[in-house]
Amino acid sequence: MPLPRVLGADLPLGEPLRLSRFTFKARQSERYRDGRILLAGDAAHLFPATGVALNAGMLDAVNLAWKLAADVHGWAPAGLLDTYHDERHLAGTRTMLHTQAQVALRREHDPAAEALRQVFQELLVDEQPLRRMGSLVAGTDIRYPMPGSHHALAGTFAADLTLHTDQGTTSVAELMHTARPIFLDLAGRPDLRETARDWRQRVDVHTAKIDDRPADALLIRPDAHIAWAVTIGEPADSAAPALREALSGWFGTP
Ligand SMILES: Cc1cc2nc3c(=O)[nH]c(=O)nc-3n(C[C@H](O)[C@H](O)[C@H](O)COP(=O)(O)OP(=O)(O)OC[C@H]3O[C@@H](n4cnc5c(N)ncnc54)[C@H](O)[C@@H]3O)c2cc1C
Repeated sequence: MPLPRVLGADLPLGEPLRLSRFTFKARQSERYRDGRILLAGDAAHLFPATGVALNAGMLDAVNLAWKLAADVHGWAPAGLLDTYHDERHLAGTRTMLHTQAQVALRREHDPAAEALRQVFQELLVDEQPLRRMGSLVAGTDIRYPMPGSHHALAGTFAADLTLHTDQGTTSVAELMHTARPIFLDLAGRPDLRETARDWRQRVDVHTAKIDDRPADALLIRPDAHIAWAVTIGEPADSAAPALREALSGWFGTP
């Protein structure tokens, strides 16, 4: 395409070193996995708005990396790699939802779009809808299906809680720097710690106190999603077997 026609002025260019094209698209692969073929990032999805694709691609990679490593090291439970499609395709659908909505919001010279923009502007003055939209755009509002775990936190993105331990104050994000799963005992539950210790070669076990605990214990995957959580005060005879099931379901036999 002649540049003067597009720009209205001549712009002398040198020899191109790399050529690529970039336009808005709204497409998602039907399957993120087919046997040994795995799609992530732009290969899996293209969204019709800016500012989200890189994040979505990185979250794909973080979701997939530890599952692939488990498979390569031979301890992945059956079906673990398939959860990559289940979870990230769902996330892609959510991202498509809000980027498509942005297409409607962006339409210029359209009275309906102008009205929609004004309604959104009014809504986003309040903190709760603003936070909700923020987590939708960041991709942290998603709740992955967690078979066998009915706690409200199961499947959600772990909050970066401040934790008080014998070694001092730390946070969930700091504990996750090892890129390993973590079991977090928040209520002094030796019954659950003992169960988790059977997986200590793969799972880091921590005890901590927090000001307002959301559960007695959390099992957090390396991609920061909560695999399992136990209700405050749930007795050991039901909590420990459920934890054992969650640990073997995600991290194989000990
Ligand atoms: C102009 C522009 C602005 C953007 N702005 C933003 C933004 O503000 N925010 C945002 O979130 N996203 C933005 N994006 C999108 C973002 O850059 C992409 O979503 C992201 O780079 C996708 O990462 P990826 O690793 O999936 O793919 P890519 O970054 O495309 O990486 C794929 C790699 O594979 C290589 N490759 C291709 N074929 C082969 C082959 N056969 N063998 C070996 N290697 C191969 C390619 O050379 C490339 O290095 C922008 C994109 C463009 C073009």
